[in-house]
Amino acid sequence: MGRRTQSGTNPGGGDSTRLSVEHYVRPMLETPNGEKRVLMHSCCAPCAAEVMDALAASKIETTIFFYNPNIHPRDEYEIRKQENIRYAEKLGMAFVDWDYNARDWFDRTEGMEHEPERGVRCTACFDMRFEVTADYAAAHGFHLISSTLGISRWKNMDQINGCGERAAARHPGMRYWTFNWRKEGGAQRMIEISKREEFYQQEYCGCVYSLRDTNAWRESKGRPKIRRLVKFYGRDAVVEPDAETAASEPV
Ligand code: SF4
Repeated sequence: MGRRTQSGTNPGGGDSTRLSVEHYVRPMLETPNGEKRVLMHSCCAPCAAEVMDALAASKIETTIFFYNPNIHPRDEYEIRKQENIRYAEKLGMAFVDWDYNARDWFDRTEGMEHEPERGVRCTACFDMRFEVTADYAAAHGFHLISSTLGISRWKNMDQINGCGERAAARHPGMRYWTFNWRKEGGAQRMIEISKREEFYQQEYCGCVYSLRDTNAWRESKGRPKIRRLVKFYGRDAVVEPDAETAASEPV
């Protein structure tokens, strides 16, 4: 980060300084249906934290809904969940720890084991997670749902939004909020917060197939296999200087 004047501005710092956690003046977010309450599906702490900060600053009553039976194996699921709980507790935000019905997830994605990421297996995976989110929302009086998944540039926003809108349409009067959390420096702040909080840094999307395929890709590049449960933002992450943001983003 560049040198700052006493007033806190940075004449030569450009947009990245203005958008940093330290300097960003968060706008008050408007929900699409005027709701002041949202059920926010969360995939992991690194993706969720910037979104949680934005919602808290806008005084939108937020409940985090952690439902991710796609994360394998179980210890990987637990560490991602515990990191998210840790940040929710820090903000005093409600957190729902939902089911880990991984067997159902494998049934739902049967026959898609060799599909590439962002393909039909991922659509089925998002559909399953958002359907359960929407059903929980309907049962607990929420009329607005969304997800932190879209903040990662590894994901296809249109695919996520399509799944979210389909899930919301199961319940009359429910909306899926398609807000682009990456915009206005969201992706940058996601990394900054992750480093500040020293969140666990996962190196594959979540399912056993993404772990297999990421390791195969690494092997093809002569890189070592993923070592799970050992890497944390801001502690021991080794990233290429010219690709820092992309290399650090949760996958
Ligand atoms: S790669 Fe990620 S989004 Fe796709 S099926 Fe696996 S866990 Fe789900």
